[in-house]
Amino acid sequence: MEGTGQRPAPRSVFVTGGNRGIGLAIARRFAAAGDRVAVTCRGAEPPAAEGLLAVRCDVTDSQQVDQAFKEAEAAHGPVGVLVANAGATHDRLLLTMSEADFTSVVDTNLTGAFRVARRAMRGMLGQGFGRIVLISSTAALHGAAGQSNYAAAKAGLVGFARSLTHELGPRDITCNVVAPGLTETDMSRALTERQRQTLLGRTPAGRLAHPDEVADAVAFLAGAGYVRGAVIPVDGGAGLGH
Ligand code: NDP
Repeated sequence: MEGTGQRPAPRSVFVTGGNRGIGLAIARRFAAAGDRVAVTCRGAEPPAAEGLLAVRCDVTDSQQVDQAFKEAEAAHGPVGVLVANAGATHDRLLLTMSEADFTSVVDTNLTGAFRVARRAMRGMLGQGFGRIVLISSTAALHGAAGQSNYAAAKAGLVGFARSLTHELGPRDITCNVVAPGLTETDMSRALTERQRQTLLGRTPAGRLAHPDEVADAVAFLAGAGYVRGAVIPVDGGAGLGH
């Protein structure tokens, strides 16, 4: 039914950074629902048994993005669900942060999402259907010392999603944001024990998120047709809904 979000599997799904961590959990969720899933990777591919199509792509390179979409589309058809998940940190206090420290993190987390969303839009407009989910962070909403580059990039995703929501108007193409709190992956394992304990102290759930719990929110948004420009925190209550 048009406009209701009820598009049955198999959908063509494209997940950036889907070879590990949160992205892999998201990719597995769609594959388990019967969708055809392409995941980008730069080095290590996801385990072959996962049934995911691995496509080479660094999201800081528009040509690689275009090539990865061509491969995914050739195998699965036009992308109907895009999850811009690829992300990286490079933490520094502002006084010691170089311009490259700042721009490289923005390039991956924010401009990378722009590159894949722009590329996906062609196919979505053509098929009159699309679900774009951008993986942000609670750092976007609350800030984090040492992460001015990362928090600015992740906050930028919110303005980006809401602007696309206005541009897309009544079309059955949505763009929403998921903002995870601390989640059990390589990225959070890089924190010191003290940093982890400080963050957990502010989290009513008293534990980190499991990547599958972020995938829950993404799967919901991939089905929801009337949720647009929203930011869904998956943070164990740290922001009490904000
Ligand atoms: P990981 O460090 O475990 O994985 C990061 C993923 O992003 C990898 O697949 C990595 O690919 C990919 N990636 C990084 N840079 C690029 C690039 N330039 N081009 C293509 N792919 C790239 O992180 P998580 O799984 O934890 O993070 C996933 C998302 O969730 C990120 O956007 C992150 O900012 C966000 N997030 C994570 C939180 C956490 O606590 N873990 C909390 C809040 C948000 P490769 O294997 O090639 O390096």
